[in-house]
Amino acid sequence: MQIITGKTKLLGVIGDPIEHSLSPVMHNAAIKALGVDYVYIPLGIKTEDLERAIATLGGLNLEGFNVTIPHKQRIMQFLDEVSPLAKRVGATNTVWRNQQGWSGTNTDVAGFLAPLKELERNWSEIKPLVLGYGGAARAVVEGLSGLGCQGIRVVGRNLEKLALFQKEWSQVEVYQWSDLPELISASELLVNTTPIGMYPQVQESPLDDDLVKSIQPGAIVYDLIYTPRPSKLLIQSQKQGAETIDGLEMLINQGAIALEIWLQQPVPVEVMRQALLNYLQI
Ligand code: NAP
Repeated sequence: MQIITGKTKLLGVIGDPIEHSLSPVMHNAAIKALGVDYVYIPLGIKTEDLERAIATLGGLNLEGFNVTIPHKQRIMQFLDEVSPLAKRVGATNTVWRNQQGWSGTNTDVAGFLAPLKELERNWSEIKPLVLGYGGAARAVVEGLSGLGCQGIRVVGRNLEKLALFQKEWSQVEVYQWSDLPELISASELLVNTTPIGMYPQVQESPLDDDLVKSIQPGAIVYDLIYTPRPSKLLIQSQKQGAETIDGLEMLINQGAIALEIWLQQPVPVEVMRQALLNYLQI
């Protein structure tokens, strides 16, 4: 058992609700494996308390923290320094101390890209199709642009929100859900950033069986959902001969990159992966 003393350094995650966060599981497993004197704790902070909480955290011996729903956007105004990447995405999920106060960045982008970078593809020739235009989609579009993908297409159900998304991300083309039949057959990379199919709605999929038939064998289907694993979309896509990626690798890698920032040393990604797999019993 880890012994926490007065010298133990604190890390954590802020969000609301925080009860279901998987971050303490993987971070504390890595901390234990590294033998460093840290502990990572969940901190439930309500939206209306965020500003006060950040000021208070500054006065505690907290070395850094992750930020999850619903604070990823709003926290940026309370930080002393925000990385250009986090500004482009419009969301910060990792915060650490600087000399003045707090610095923040976004590790979701690199976490999303980690499993794609394992694949041999000519990314500049791939036109990705992204389902959804919410917070995660912003990290995905930033990541895909950085990877060199051209002609990123974003699909959503609300015309107004689609128009807003495109105004901010001029490099994307936006489409409605009804355009999917033509789009899917031409897509070598499909990314689901909607929560459709997430536990407990495990029987749902963003694509019905007819649409799934348009997925080309060898296409990559990446679902950001990690519960269940695989999601219905990934089961459907596997039957079509697609290469599938679930959201667990993104979760692990965004966490590993954050821990590297705090500890300033390489971290055991495999330990973090195994801790999550054991905890989720998958
Ligand atoms: P979000 O900001 O609420 O965005 C959700 C998006 O899905 C919105 O564009 C929403 O469109 C769309 N959507 C929801 N229900 C829909 C439906 N029935 N039909 C069509 N579109 C629908 O949420 P988020 O933070 O981006 O998270 C989205 C998903 O990604 C969640 O499942 C989350 O767990 C997952 N995620 C995973 C990781 C990871 O590390 N693996 C990281 C971040 C997020 P409207 O606005 O029109 O409703």
